[in-house]
Amino acid sequence: MNRPSVAIVGAGLGGLGAAIRLKQSGFDSIALLEKSSGVGGTWRDNSYPGCCCDVPVVLYQFSFAPSIRWHHVFPRQPEIQQYCEDLVDDHALRSHLVLNDETVEAAWDEKRSVWRLTSASGQVREANALIAALGQLNRPRLPDIQGRDAFAGPAFHSARWDHSVDLARKRVAVIGTAASAVQIIPEVAKTASQLTVFQRTPNWIAPRQDRPITDEENALILTATHVAGLQRELLYQSADHLFWQVFSWTQPGRDAYTRVALNHLAAQVRDESLRKQLTPTYPIGCKRVLFADDFYPALLQPNVALETDRVARIERDGIVMNEGHKHEVDVIVYATGFETTGWNWSLDVIGRDGVHLRDVWSHTPQAYLGITVARFPNLFVLYGPNTNLGHNSITFMLEQQMNYVLQLLEAMRERKVAAIEVTQAAQERHNRELQEALARTTWADPQCQSWYKNTAGVITQNWGSHTRDYASATARVVWDDYQVR
Ligand code: NAP
Repeated sequence: MNRPSVAIVGAGLGGLGAAIRLKQSGFDSIALLEKSSGVGGTWRDNSYPGCCCDVPVVLYQFSFAPSIRWHHVFPRQPEIQQYCEDLVDDHALRSHLVLNDETVEAAWDEKRSVWRLTSASGQVREANALIAALGQLNRPRLPDIQGRDAFAGPAFHSARWDHSVDLARKRVAVIGTAASAVQIIPEVAKTASQLTVFQRTPNWIAPRQDRPITDEENALILTATHVAGLQRELLYQSADHLFWQVFSWTQPGRDAYTRVALNHLAAQVRDESLRKQLTPTYPIGCKRVLFADDFYPALLQPNVALETDRVARIERDGIVMNEGHKHEVDVIVYATGFETTGWNWSLDVIGRDGVHLRDVWSHTPQAYLGITVARFPNLFVLYGPNTNLGHNSITFMLEQQMNYVLQLLEAMRERKVAAIEVTQAAQERHNRELQEALARTTWADPQCQSWYKNTAGVITQNWGSHTRDYASATARVVWDDYQVR
C-alpha cells in the first residue's frame, strides 16, 4: 500500500491533533469527519458560564502546536475553542474537514481490508484505517429523579447550556457539585436572585491558583524556547508525581494531599457546620480531585444555599427533598456528568465476522493500550478505555496515542501491510496487568464511587500508573502482539 487513506471520526482535540500529526508524517488522504457544525468536541459542547480547563495550559496544549494566544494559566473555554479553530487554519486542515454529517456506521470489509463508513446523510466513503476520536465525556447523563419531566421551567444539562435563558434575578438550582458544577456555581451566583446548590457527595478541592499569562511570558516563550521547555517539564513532572501521591496507596503522600485540601477548606470556610457538610468522608483521590478558589467563597454569598439532603422528587415549580421541604425554583441546571462506562457511541463499529464494538464493549470495554482492539483491524482509538487520568493532561496521553498509531500506519505504508490487528492474547494480557495495577489504586477501594468504574466495580476508564509509564508502553510497537496481513 502506498499511502493508506485514513478516516478520523471526531474533530475535537484528539481528531485535530491526529490529522496534524498524519499530515506532518506525509499522509495526505485524510478525512476528518465531524457530526456537528464546528470543531472543538467537548470544548464546543461545554459552553457553560465559568467553563475552563483545570489543567495548566502549558500541559494542555499540544507540544507540537504551541500557541502564544493564551491569556490564563488555566485557559477559559473560549480560548481553547479558539485554539481548536486556529489548529484548523494553522495546519491547513479545512480541506480535510467534513462537518454537519454524523458518521453512523463503520464496517470492516475483510476481503478488501477497508473500512466502509456511512454517514447520517447517506454518504459512503472508504478508508484503509479508521481513527475513532469520539472522546469519553460527550453523552450527558440526566439524573433518574422522579418527576424530572414535570418541571415547568427551563432545565438543561451543563454540557447543553441554554444561552437563551437569562439567569439574572432568577431562582436557580444546580444539581451536582463536581468538576463542571464548581466552575458554574461561582458564575451563576453573581446574578441569580437565589442559587440552591444540591450536593449529594462533597468533593476534595485543592487550590487552583490561576493567574493571567503576561505579554512578557508569551514573549519569553517565543524568544527562549528552552525556558518554555523547562517550564513544561517542571509542571509535567509535578503533575505526574500526583499519581504516586494521591492515587497509589501511599499513606504519607495521601495524608499530605488531604491536608492541602482541608487547609484550603478551613481557610475559605469559617462556619464549622458548613465546613462539615463540605468535608468528604471518603479517601482523597476516589473521585477527581477538584481545583477551585472561587467555589467555597460562592457558597458564602447571601443569595446562595447549600442543600445536602437527598432529592426526593421534582415538581412543576421546584425540588422536594427527602425530609419533605421544597425549594421553589425557576431554572434547573443538571451538572450531573456523563454516560461513560457503556461506551455507547452513536457510531456503530462493525469489525471482523460482523462483531459490533458496542456489544463487545457494552459491559467491560477492553482495548490494547486503549488504542487497538482484537477483531477490529486497522481501528485505532484515541482516549479509549483505561486512558483517562486524574492527575495529568489528557492531551499528553493523546500525543502518545498519536505517536503509536503513526508507527502502525507507517508500517502499513513502508511494509505494504493491508491489515494490522492486535491479538486477543496480547489484549487480555495487557488488561490483566492493567487491572492488577489498578487494584493497587485508590479508585479500587470499594467505598470509592466514581464514573471511572462500571456497575461491577471494574475500573474501565482510567490508566493505572504514571503517564510516563504510558509513554514508555506506547513508545515502540511490540510486533509480536499483532497479526499483520
Ligand atoms: P461528574 O464528575 O460525574 O459529577 C456529577 C455530579 O452530579 C456529582 O456531584 C454527582 O454526585 C452529582 N449527581 C449525579 N447524579 C445525581 C443525582 N441523581 N442527585 C444528586 N446529585 C447527582 O460530572 P462533571 O462534573 O460534569 O465532570 C465529569 C468529568 O468531566 C470530570 O471528572 C472531568 O474529567 C471532566 N471535566 C473536566 C473539567 C476540566 O476543567 N478539565 C471541567 C469539567 C469536567 P455524586 O458525587 O454523589 O455522584
